Amino acid sequence: MNRIVMAGMPAAGHVNPSLPLVRELVRRDIRVTYYATEQFRLAIEHTGAEFRPYPAGTITADDIAEATRTASAVRVVVRGLAATEILVPYLREELRDDPPDAVAHDSNAIWGQMVAKSRRLPTISFMTTMLVGADAFRSQTAREWLRFGRAAVRDMPAAIAARQRVVRRFGKDLFPPRPAFPTLGDVTLFPIPRWLQRPDPRIDDRCHYIGATIDPDARDRELDAELAAHVDGSEPLVLVSLGTLHSGSDTFFRSCFDALSGLPARILIAVGAHTDPARLGTPPSNTLVRASVPQLEVLRRTAVFVTHGGMNSALEGLSNGVPLVVLPQQFEQLLIGQAVAERGAGVVLRHHLSGRPVPPGELRAEVERTLVDPSRRTAAEALAGTVGEGGGGRRGDRGAAGPATPGSRLKPAAVSMIMGR
Ligand code: UDP
Repeated sequence: MNRIVMAGMPAAGHVNPSLPLVRELVRRDIRVTYYATEQFRLAIEHTGAEFRPYPAGTITADDIAEATRTASAVRVVVRGLAATEILVPYLREELRDDPPDAVAHDSNAIWGQMVAKSRRLPTISFMTTMLVGADAFRSQTAREWLRFGRAAVRDMPAAIAARQRVVRRFGKDLFPPRPAFPTLGDVTLFPIPRWLQRPDPRIDDRCHYIGATIDPDARDRELDAELAAHVDGSEPLVLVSLGTLHSGSDTFFRSCFDALSGLPARILIAVGAHTDPARLGTPPSNTLVRASVPQLEVLRRTAVFVTHGGMNSALEGLSNGVPLVVLPQQFEQLLIGQAVAERGAGVVLRHHLSGRPVPPGELRAEVERTLVDPSRRTAAEALAGTVGEGGGGRRGDRGAAGPATPGSRLKPAAVSMIMGR
């Protein structure tokens, strides 16, 4: 039996899309050992993979969320580099007695790639979003640039120092080439449709756009009685969520109460783990507030998805034919929202990117328009069929051919699965 080690990034948006792929590998008789945090143990074990925890305190979803909330992508890099210092020696030790045939790693889990390089093993990078090139930043407004640029400049010295520490300790040859975050592998899998990727000089025949890997069976589907009654009511359902890493402010969620209360719709707001629903006060009678919801199950019943435009949320919405009102919290989500809006399946309200509130009147108008104007729904339904283009989790059955994995000792089933043959 062949064996793959997966070095995961412990955040829902990174683990969720990997699960169907891991399940498919296991189904094809590949032994998969998946490193992540306890938060994801059950979901990972459900795929048939062996779960192993990162040492406590190394890196958690909360750490990533805390860094993300500073509006600085550089802060997330600093956090990742600190984890790399601990995880490279840890994983080297773990792999010593039972070396795998290849190392798969989240594109930001550079520790996985470094350990693979040190053992001369092939690498499979799992890129949960598209590549964003420098030219894309031209569509940022001056206000947006100021907000994100300032935060990045503030954290740059810490990032340079953290990189130097890692390079000094493990050697320059092991460190991924620039830009290290995200890093490409010998093979790189993008669980997104090709149409979401803008041209980028880094893309070559080692990059495979395998389509969204959405599989409800890999996810929590349980609706409790109150939630089931709310989502199955007769009026259309509007789901509001800014994902798991960005915490919307109390002011934002209260403004959703104001904006959406008078609509002939049921509103479900998933505020995330960092906001206490009780703190927001009593919601309007048409509104239910939860910390989190089984999103795939809820989206099956949703008429409009007010989302931050995280890659998974956007694709999950579209795969259910749900039009999006995108409130991006970071630049990449703006690009995703714009790509969806260009195809008629949504609209972007970009106020948060420059630190401004979304005017409740505008939010209400866009949600209302999406509810009554069937064209956005029709466009979203048309895109639903394209989201999995490339084969998704079962790419091996349907995708296009690619070159063999360099240096791979994997048996053909694994190679064909990964390479799409
Ligand atoms: N999610 C969920 N319930 C929630 C909020 C999010 O199941 O209440 C899932 C969602 O379905 C998606 C992931 O968490 O698979 C979030 O990933 P995304 O890329 O959209 O955003 P991120 O949280 O990484 O910003």
